[in-house]
Amino acid sequence: MKFLSVSDFTNCLRFVSCLSVVEAYSEGDWNLQFRRSLIESEIEQWNELQNLLGEVNLNNRDDQITWNLDKKGFTTKFVYRFITFRVVLDTKMMDIWGSHLSLKVKVFIWLMFKGRIQVGDQLKRMNWMGNPNCKLCGQLETIDHLIFQCPLSHFLSCFI
Ligand SMILES: [Zn+2]
Repeated sequence: MKFLSVSDFTNCLRFVSCLSVVEAYSEGDWNLQFRRSLIESEIEQWNELQNLLGEVNLNNRDDQITWNLDKKGFTTKFVYRFITFRVVLDTKMMDIWGSHLSLKVKVFIWLMFKGRIQVGDQLKRMNWMGNPNCKLCGQLETIDHLIFQCPLSHFLSCFI
């Protein structure tokens, strides 16, 4: 069920200024007046919202801001990790990113693992009109070929 936004309901409500939730909700009943009559779907959503809010324990204390994602409280480090690594941890790349290689090499390795290095094979799939073969040995240029299989690139990498 798609709920109306809070602003949709608040637009319908006739507010008494500075009315707290505790004052509006007492003993299981809402003391609210709507500016207009709610249509059937709004009434269903309002009832559903009341059911959900009925499970909330209200008291007269001031509201508190809490951080539920981490018991230690809010830290920018935790938020960064939550945003960047919450779905899938690429442990293979974590070692690479944590290494002392230059950033240029790290990015190249990352692109290689993701299959994003533009080699002849990939360029041909994107309708590139050029020759997809290796310029050094003449075989089809793939990432595996370029890094591991081409004898001439192996020979040249010995001098780097
Ligand atoms: Zn080659």
